[in-house]
Amino acid sequence: MLYDDAQVDDFDVLDGGPEMISGLLGDLVLILNTRGAIGVTNGNYPARYGRYGEIRTREFTFHFNPTGEIRYMRGLSRAWPHPWEWLKRSWGNDWIYYSVGLSRDHGHVREWVGESYLPCLSYESNAIREGSPYTISGVSTAFSAWSQVYATLCTKPLGGLKPELRVFVEKVIARNDETALIEKANELHGILGGRASVLPPDTRHVDYEVIPLNIADGCLYKCRFCTVKSQAAFAAKSQGEIMGQIRALAAYYGENLENLNALFVGDHDALAAGGDQVAWSAEKAFGTFGFSRKEGGVPSLFLFASCTSFAKAGEAVFKRLSALPYKTYINIGLESVDDETLKKLGKPVTSQTVQETFLKMMEVNAHYPSLEVTANFLLGTTFSEAHHISMMKLLGSVPKEAGAKGCVYLSPLVETQRRGEVLPMFYKIKEVSTLPCFIYLIQRL
Ligand code: SF4
Repeated sequence: MLYDDAQVDDFDVLDGGPEMISGLLGDLVLILNTRGAIGVTNGNYPARYGRYGEIRTREFTFHFNPTGEIRYMRGLSRAWPHPWEWLKRSWGNDWIYYSVGLSRDHGHVREWVGESYLPCLSYESNAIREGSPYTISGVSTAFSAWSQVYATLCTKPLGGLKPELRVFVEKVIARNDETALIEKANELHGILGGRASVLPPDTRHVDYEVIPLNIADGCLYKCRFCTVKSQAAFAAKSQGEIMGQIRALAAYYGENLENLNALFVGDHDALAAGGDQVAWSAEKAFGTFGFSRKEGGVPSLFLFASCTSFAKAGEAVFKRLSALPYKTYINIGLESVDDETLKKLGKPVTSQTVQETFLKMMEVNAHYPSLEVTANFLLGTTFSEAHHISMMKLLGSVPKEAGAKGCVYLSPLVETQRRGEVLPMFYKIKEVSTLPCFIYLIQRL
């Protein structure tokens, strides 16, 4: 049985831009220049942004970038788990299932992750729940249905299609064989000098749709517990290297730039490259990527910092960053406020430094409207009570008025056993914290 169309076809078609064109190719419905929500939305379901092409069968809908690569798929029949759930392919060629919550027993998914959906990754990460949506038959058939659609596109004569639709189908055929998709992701990683092994948790605000730009390699600490660190010593890139990357990224994204409105300056401690370097790179990217487009709203800038780089940044740096034409999010990994735990984690900072960083984070949030600093702590069944108690004490000691901006992310340790105990632990901490708390799931690009 099928959901009725009014229920599933719930995206906005906005005015402006190329006209929407549709046609049939056998049983396939082709739609060009569909427009999803533009910019950041906080709807009740994962919104699709920007302009895209669409191919529908009776049971599935498939969405494509303006350059033709597959981007989203969703089931239209009752076999699909929920009409608000989606599969999305990242620019790094990973599939991510957007779930509205694997179970209703543990509160609303928005309370865990701050968004209306839970990204379920198709690769090893720090998931909070056992089980994978990829084994649900309605979801797994999406992949075989897509293969069938692709085979149909490759074999049907295209002569009867309107010219624009023929160009669209030819792009889809050329860009979506497995080798082409892998090569496209490799090209991105080649420009960056490697995969972005982790995105800041704040990128949830833009559905993880960021253009990555590496302004430095590595980080200052090389913490023992960390699974995403690079082995290279920290090194800032030269402005010439950064400009080369910006140009290569502009060519790489091409037409897709109109759908993108956020920048991640990496990799693991961009602020250690200096506030001037961050601001200079963000300004250059703003111009080259066309972020001044009004429809996208205020662009977002994301970066990681460390206790050291954040402590070093003075008023001049924050003034410079807050004057950028972006809403800027700085995320700092604090991990623990317990000295024993920090030692065990191999994180070379003290609990006192962590507390000072936390206080400075709140000061910056209070003084600079366009800057938002957030912090991460670790969570898991392998930690001592002292770790959890000291963290709760710190998060509970924040005065109420300081909770207006910023938040805290609690990241389950990758090795965490007994995952069923993680959510109740999270809720216990969230309850005492003045700042909003969310779960941080490590996502790569
Ligand atoms: S946690 Fe952050 S600072 Fe520590 S090694 Fe990993 S990336 Fe580097």
